[in-house]
Amino acid sequence: MKRIPTVYLAISLSISCMLTACGQSKEKQVPTEANAKTKTAMNKNPYYSHTSTEKLNLTDAEWKKILPEDVYEVSRHADTEAAFTGKYWNYTGTGTYYCAACGNTLFRSDAKFASSCGWPSFFEQTSKTSVVFKNDNSYGMVRVEALCGRCGGHLGHLFDDGPEPTGKRYCMNSIALDFEPDEK
Ligand code: FE
Repeated sequence: MKRIPTVYLAISLSISCMLTACGQSKEKQVPTEANAKTKTAMNKNPYYSHTSTEKLNLTDAEWKKILPEDVYEVSRHADTEAAFTGKYWNYTGTGTYYCAACGNTLFRSDAKFASSCGWPSFFEQTSKTSVVFKNDNSYGMVRVEALCGRCGGHLGHLFDDGPEPTGKRYCMNSIALDFEPDEK
C-alpha cells in the first residue's frame, strides 16, 4: 500500500514534465528543424561559427565528443547518407548552407539546383576557400572529394555534370549541412 503514493507521484511528475516540455517547445517557436539542429550544434560545439575563418585541426576523439553521431560519421569518416533520404535533397528554401561540423559558410540557396541524384546539389561554392578538394579513389572509383575549407570535414563529391555557368555538381550529404533561412 505504501507504494501507491510513490507511483502516483511518478505518474504525476511524468505528466508534468511532458506538459512543460510541450509548453517550452511552443514558446521557442523554432521555425524549422534545420534551425533547431544548428542551434543544438552551436550549443555543444565550441568551434561552431558562421564568421570565424580560423582553420580547425582537431583530433578524431575531439570531434567525436562535440558532434552529433550522424554528423561525426559523415564529416570525419566520409559516411554517405542514402539517396532521397536527406532533408535537403529537394529543399528549396532561400538562405545559406553551412558546414554542420564547424558552421563554415558553404553555399547560397541560389546556387542549388534540382538534381535527380537524390542528394542536395549545388553548382557553385560561396568563395574559393569555402570548399576544398582531394582525389578520392575509394570503392574502385575515381572521384573528387569535397571537404569543408575550414574544418576539413567530408561534405560529398564534385562532378563535372552540373548546369551552367560552372558545369559543376557539388553532390552533398544533407547531414553535413546546416541551413539558415534569410531574415525577412
Ligand atoms: Fe567545416
